[in-house]
Amino acid sequence: MNVNDIPKVELHCHLEACFQPQTVKEIGQTLGLDIPEDPEIFKREWLITEPVDNLEQALKKFAHIQTLWGSEETIERLTYEACEYGVEQGIKIFELRYSPNFIQGANAKLSFEKIHDAVVRGISRGGHLDIAVGLIGIVQKTLSLKEAEYTTDFIIENKEAFVGIDMADMDIGLEIRRFAPLMAKAKKAGLRVTLHSGEENVPEAPQHVRIAIEELGAERIGHGIHIIHDPGVMDFVKKENVLLELCPTSNWLTKSVPAVSRHPIRKLMEAGVLVSINSDDPHLFDIDLCHEYDILHKELGFTGEAFNRINDNAAACSFLPPDEKQKVWPRKIPAIR
Ligand SMILES: [Zn+2]
Repeated sequence: MNVNDIPKVELHCHLEACFQPQTVKEIGQTLGLDIPEDPEIFKREWLITEPVDNLEQALKKFAHIQTLWGSEETIERLTYEACEYGVEQGIKIFELRYSPNFIQGANAKLSFEKIHDAVVRGISRGGHLDIAVGLIGIVQKTLSLKEAEYTTDFIIENKEAFVGIDMADMDIGLEIRRFAPLMAKAKKAGLRVTLHSGEENVPEAPQHVRIAIEELGAERIGHGIHIIHDPGVMDFVKKENVLLELCPTSNWLTKSVPAVSRHPIRKLMEAGVLVSINSDDPHLFDIDLCHEYDILHKELGFTGEAFNRINDNAAACSFLPPDEKQKVWPRKIPAIR
């Protein structure tokens, strides 16, 4: 099967982890970054290609990629190239998400406005491409309530450029509840809500997913795979038509599953849960979206027909406006909500 030819929907891709090797080199020179010349050393020091044993080392790699987003010019260029990458992968509906706090974390001189405007310029530059791109703003779960409110308000103020809002980063357990008013505010302003939840294999994972949906208003869940241990929560997710944004290689690299062949994607589908296939942090993981299709085909026997069904559902659950989605999608998008 040539997975490149499958028209795809990607709903869960972190913009900051989208970068091409040649671009990294050039950006390194422009910004004066110390980037290893040797591709093998670059891979070892900058990319996550083996399951993470050492959180400190993984964080160092995130800190490295943060520095690539160090000027308005590089942000615009990387964003435009992310759209081009999407076209190369056969993606027709592409939701990219970014965290203004993450980019600003290593680049204090850039204001949220400057970062955001550069991202928007990058997407506009790709306006001629045969792809519909939607932007999701991320509020990090690790922020204080005050900081999170500032970021949420920023996303709301710029809502014409965003299709949705997300909360990402380390799992903070039931503490997530304190952000519920912020997500309610974003929803009221017309933004759609997706949340990272149920990614780590902890006993509370299914409960966290239920809270994300019931109390924080999530319409989609990033990962959510560990609901597999709780039939009650699985039924609930199914009844609410909440789609899980699944990222098989990412789950393997973070040790959320022991191997892609042991990923619960098939079991979730058999239980009637809506799923989509995503890359999460493609170039940080040294993968692309086609790699995820390939591995699901080879390790779990997914067929072209299964991929089409998954993508039709993903198209239906994309936060982009219906007419924009249908314009680029080759089949009639089913009604799910
Ligand atoms: Zn993610």
